Amino acid sequence: MAITVVGSVAFDSIETPAGRRERCLGGAATYFSLAASYFTDVRVIAVVGEDFGADEEAVFQARGIDTRGIERAAGKSFFWEGSYLDNLNEAKTHATELNVFGSFAPKIPEAYGDSQFLFLANIDPVLQRRVREAMPQARLVAGDTMNYWIKDHRAALLEVLKGLDILLINDTEARMLAGNNNLLQAAHAVLTMGPRMLVVKHGEYGATLFHGSAANVKSGERTFRAPALPLEEVVDPTGAGDSFAGGFFGYLASQAELTPGAFRRAMFYGSVMGSFAVQRFGTERLQQLSRDEIDHRFTLFRELTHLD
Ligand code: AMP
Repeated sequence: MAITVVGSVAFDSIETPAGRRERCLGGAATYFSLAASYFTDVRVIAVVGEDFGADEEAVFQARGIDTRGIERAAGKSFFWEGSYLDNLNEAKTHATELNVFGSFAPKIPEAYGDSQFLFLANIDPVLQRRVREAMPQARLVAGDTMNYWIKDHRAALLEVLKGLDILLINDTEARMLAGNNNLLQAAHAVLTMGPRMLVVKHGEYGATLFHGSAANVKSGERTFRAPALPLEEVVDPTGAGDSFAGGFFGYLASQAELTPGAFRRAMFYGSVMGSFAVQRFGTERLQQLSRDEIDHRFTLFRELTHLD
């Protein structure tokens, strides 16, 4: 099953304890689609500027990602600058320049019309909603967001949440969205806002899936936790969450049936893709993986948590 994703395609300047990189290819939709491309066909909707050249395009092409929905506009691409000098689990944002995203009106190529899976990666919730409404055929819709939209664009975001099956956010965002510091209570509150399932990402500590009725969630009954792989070195955490989402949703799209077991395995594949993403700067590691390497790491995760 093909996935259509809308989100930022960007240039990022990043500083971590391992070094600094200027204007490397980034963006939520970029990390998501690279990670998902190891599991299924991926189609991107985004806008880029004149600074997006053949080298950047080649990164998508090499993974067979459909870029017909990436519009080229006059001006500069989305730009983000961040650092992780104090805390590898949380980016400090120094600059966000929307540039061509500021006036983006998403156009969905006809060829994307049969996508059964839709992922609304991190971008203005107004754009997420427009794409959701333009793709009513999507059978499973998941999405992400960030503190910026939760704080300053709450009304638009709440509209998006109503149309989601699955929301994937990190724990700070879940607590902020719910206005509650207790994770279970926050999950319960978020599940009343629209999504049937909530995946809360805990950075280097893994991710938790909450689903079912509010009562189930409160008792911890419908909760599943996948670990993150302990790594000797985290070079660059940028895109870990989007790569998790790409592995998670890509794996689901590759399954004939969406059983509870498929969701549990998807949580592990999400963790696998997140663990690769952080081992090099930018999208470097995600560009050069093989399915064998991915499956080998999946078995490491199994061993990490196996009881008998
Ligand atoms: P993550 O580390 O998974 O949360 O995502 C990092 C990516 O999000 C970077 O590549 C940025 O280009 C992108 N990003 C940062 N801020 C925003 C924003 N306000 N809207 C959309 N994408 C963003």
